[in-house]
Amino acid sequence: MPNTESQAPTNFIRDIIAADLAVNKNNGRVHTRFPPEPNGYLHIGHAKSICLNFGIAKEEAGRLCNLRFDDTNPVTEDTEYIESIIEDVHWLGFDWEDRLYYASDYFEKLYNYAVQLIESGKAYVCDLSEEEFRPYRGTLKEPGKDSPCRDRSISENLELFQKMRAGEFDDGAYVLRAKINMADPNVHMRDPVVYRIRRATHHRTGDAWCIYPMYDFAHCVSDSIEGITHSICTLEFEIHRPLYDWFLDQLNVECHPQQIEFARLNLGYTMMSKRRLLELVAEGHVDGWDDPRMPTISGLRRRGYTPAAIRNFCERIGVTKFNSLTDIALLEHCVREDLNKKSQRVMAVLDPLRVVIENYPEGEVDELDAINNPEDPEMGTRSVFFSREIYIERDDFLEDPPKKFFRLGPGREVRLRYGYYITCVDAIKDPDTGEIVELRCTYDPETRGGSSPDGRKVKGTIHWVSVAHALNAEVRLYDRLFTDENPLGSENPDNYTDLMNPESLTVLKPCKVEPSTRDAVPGDKYQFERQGYFCVDNDSSPGNLIFNRTVALRDSWSKIAKKQ
Ligand code: ATP
Ligand code: MG
Repeated sequence: MPNTESQAPTNFIRDIIAADLAVNKNNGRVHTRFPPEPNGYLHIGHAKSICLNFGIAKEEAGRLCNLRFDDTNPVTEDTEYIESIIEDVHWLGFDWEDRLYYASDYFEKLYNYAVQLIESGKAYVCDLSEEEFRPYRGTLKEPGKDSPCRDRSISENLELFQKMRAGEFDDGAYVLRAKINMADPNVHMRDPVVYRIRRATHHRTGDAWCIYPMYDFAHCVSDSIEGITHSICTLEFEIHRPLYDWFLDQLNVECHPQQIEFARLNLGYTMMSKRRLLELVAEGHVDGWDDPRMPTISGLRRRGYTPAAIRNFCERIGVTKFNSLTDIALLEHCVREDLNKKSQRVMAVLDPLRVVIENYPEGEVDELDAINNPEDPEMGTRSVFFSREIYIERDDFLEDPPKKFFRLGPGREVRLRYGYYITCVDAIKDPDTGEIVELRCTYDPETRGGSSPDGRKVKGTIHWVSVAHALNAEVRLYDRLFTDENPLGSENPDNYTDLMNPESLTVLKPCKVEPSTRDAVPGDKYQFERQGYFCVDNDSSPGNLIFNRTVALRDSWSKIAKKQ
């Protein structure tokens, strides 16, 4: 069914919702949730889920989306992660209003629901450990066998479960199991664990509990408690859906949400697993969760990505039921598109080569007009300063340039962006190393602003900064984190660190940037002309400028898109 109300392209989940609304299912309510487990920082895959869940709610007034922390595993969870997740979802531009929830707030309710299961003969306390239970579980081909504890009486189960809660047993001594069907072809339906004993201090409930509910039980019940109508999750939960429905069917609940699965985002040359990303951080392979090479939201933010670029990317990849690997070039294309509209242009020389303009008077300064953003005239103009000595990019000069090299070479003329035509008259070399240390050039005073009155054409325009005016800066260039497109997809995914790109970070300094960046603060974004988009790093300060390259200007996605 086409979605006529919104501008966003439709997808199968929006179609399901439209069909539900057409028959007034849930009395016309649409209520989603984003349920992260606070055991790591959010990554770009989570952004897909956030944009989907919060995006559906945002489409029309009256729809809601909750933020719920799925904090039922005290061992791996931490308040640092909660804070980062809250920051990241807000930063992406979404809001849960007063609906910030924690599964741990439902521990008492969840316990009571488990008691309800026992009372109706739908759950039992089992003495078999995970290990001991394995032979009972069967395989994909063979049915399982009933646990010897399966026929325990309701009263005995109630008593044992109560004692589990009271801390009378050791960790792992007992579990509560759902009593479903050990012969079910779906192994998740073979008497799955509902509660386990785990003495661990929870970041919110402290030591109040020594038993914790399992995900499959806690999740559907939490959804139901919150009145969720559409419980959207990734494909790997498809096989858990019968269990999701089974729990809610057994319990006396008013709200039975519909679980809908979609394909998770996988991005090339990186990985979408909090557990693995935590390993990268913990083992020091990267410089923290917000390392600009990380596929985390905080890493992308530090790298210079904008919320609009990420939302746009999530819209473009669409929502389907088929797993695939998305080309990182699409993400880069989205950020370029956004930064092109928004960012101030400046000139910065990353690998400086000094140029002396022999016929320009010493001590004189020429103030030239530069456009801040050709895409947005309202951003106005600024001054750039020209003087006798300037820096240009080392690779904009070749001693023996081929024909098609339209930049500088001996005797060749180029245009300085916003400035003059210059002609190279000499290249000075270090007598020991043979390296070119300085160029001698002349300028044509008639070409101020970049054109010649005699109609003389030059093909190349290069960027530059005045030696006397330039600021020093450190520039960090980033490349893909892995050399393999699917680092966890190899035969031995545990060896993924062998596939890390040793050149994922290149630090350049001192680079020379235009003085207009003097007061740049962390998060400020610029286009360095001819090079790419750069973002002021968190560690930067006015006397010690640090820029991260968000993305280079060259857009490989446009080429891919054109080919297709
Ligand atoms: P990870 O495997 O990285 O730890 P997770 O699924 O365990 O991810 P959760 O905190 O449970 O992480 O995820 C919260 C929500 O985000 C879930 O609904 C989950 O399905 C969704 N999600 C996680 N990874 C992706 C992804 N790569 N693409 C789309 N949605 C995702
Ligand atoms: Mg999970």
